[in-house]
Amino acid sequence: MKKYPLFINFETMRLGLTLIFIHWMYTVTLFCQSKRHLHEIHCDTTHFYFESYKDSLDDYVFKMGLKKNLITNDERLKLAFYIALNRYPELHKTRITLRHKNINSTMQAQPSPEFIFKRKNKRAYKIFVNNNPRRTGINYQELSFEGLVGWIGHEFAHLIDYNTMNNRALLGFIAGYIFDKKTMRRTERNADRETIKRGLGLQLLDGVAFFEKNNKISESYRNRKQKNYLSEAEIMLDIKRNCAP
Ligand SMILES: [Zn+2]
Repeated sequence: MKKYPLFINFETMRLGLTLIFIHWMYTVTLFCQSKRHLHEIHCDTTHFYFESYKDSLDDYVFKMGLKKNLITNDERLKLAFYIALNRYPELHKTRITLRHKNINSTMQAQPSPEFIFKRKNKRAYKIFVNNNPRRTGINYQELSFEGLVGWIGHEFAHLIDYNTMNNRALLGFIAGYIFDKKTMRRTERNADRETIKRGLGLQLLDGVAFFEKNNKISESYRNRKQKNYLSEAEIMLDIKRNCAP
């Protein structure tokens, strides 16, 4: 008589444990999917959320706004610009203009053309943000705020690179970038690596992940990106390499 309830209890317990196990597996799977980056990277996990930082824009402008001209009404873009700039102290006193332009990539960084007539320390730079998504298939406004920070961080890495070159070297570099595919690949991958070194690896990853899963992107832009920039796996590896031991 006593064995029967015990058997029920045992079966109930086994069913309960199975349900708990399934629930646990489901939760772990969901966690891994939603926090994939955090799950695999155990350091450098700073995150920037627009809502948390939007009240800091005036402070950022006060701290880094000297010689900066942001010709845009997009508050997200302005804030992303300053959050990324915060990681590049060498550029805080550099003249930088950001404006929208019809270009064949999402963003582009270049010296102002009159640099040839100026001293290196008086050089000004421009960052263009594409305002014609039909050309590339990607609308920068669809990027997450973090993705935007990472993308601008990559453009600042180019400016750091340009800043090391005198006028003649910069002219040679521009010619090389246009005509030599290897120069373009090396430059873009180095800019990605510099962005990661500045602690914006997760943000860069966010932008690349958005790019990878966006099926509206033009074939030529996708090919260019895959050939010349770090992949998601390479970015994750590089972030880990930069982690403190
Ligand atoms: Zn670039």
